[in-house]
Amino acid sequence: LSSDEAWETPPRALTIAGSDSAGGAGMHADIRAFLTCGVHGMTAVTAVTVQNSLGVKDFVEIPAETVAAQIEAVVGDIGVDAAKTGMLASAAIIDAVAKACHKVGIGQEGTAPFVVDPVAASMHGDPLLHADALNALRDLLFPMATLVTPNLDEVRLLTGVEVSTRAQLADAARAVHALGPQWTLIKSGHLTQDPECVDLLFDGTEFYELPGARYDTPHTHGGGDTMASAITAALARGAPVLEAVRFGKRFVQRAVAHSYPLGAGVGPVSTFW
Ligand code: PLP
Repeated sequence: LSSDEAWETPPRALTIAGSDSAGGAGMHADIRAFLTCGVHGMTAVTAVTVQNSLGVKDFVEIPAETVAAQIEAVVGDIGVDAAKTGMLASAAIIDAVAKACHKVGIGQEGTAPFVVDPVAASMHGDPLLHADALNALRDLLFPMATLVTPNLDEVRLLTGVEVSTRAQLADAARAVHALGPQWTLIKSGHLTQDPECVDLLFDGTEFYELPGARYDTPHTHGGGDTMASAITAALARGAPVLEAVRFGKRFVQRAVAHSYPLGAGVGPVSTFW
């Protein structure tokens, strides 16, 4: 190929997230989902976790200024069509991410849609965010977010609202919406007694139900990251939020349906089909 015959640049998405040495969740899942969706993935790494299929043993944080510098370096040169956050680890990192994203035009006041997945703990219950960082997540990032994607544990930690039935999802959506995001997606995966898995999307006016099957598998590691990344990829490709979230729901359903065992513990959802 000569340079004028070169491939076109695909849409560009950025994940601001931690690594997972087991390759199932975090930025590894994000990059895989971006690739499957035909989007170029970029990373601002926030933390390096030591984990396998049995859980997170430890993590080290990347210095907050290095996280910000990664965001500014890639967006300044390459540009970005949509961005997402995953594991952010500390209040100092969240503060640096909020300032860097504001500076480069990611979020409600910028041009690139911003998906904030408020990751607090792994499915094994291992913390991925210091307890004192919850306020920073809520106060600094939620008001910048195009979309937030909490699960029910994260809803409880962030708002105090407890959800145990599908009918209560709307209360959760209202409480999260009051924290400032444009759109709120409440994920109902933890309502394990519900035979279906119906998520609820809210824009402050309308509620949209996202129907889905509940799969009988323990191997759902990285499911939340994969859904948020597929939504981010669809936004990077220019989809409106409602369409992007519907796509993300279908994408994660397929990923859970193709999940596989790995190691002695919990295996990942799959994005190679
Ligand atoms: N490790 C990292 C770096 C993550 O970002 C996440 C989720 O966001 C996890 C682990 C946990 O994934 P899961 O809850 O699917 O086990």
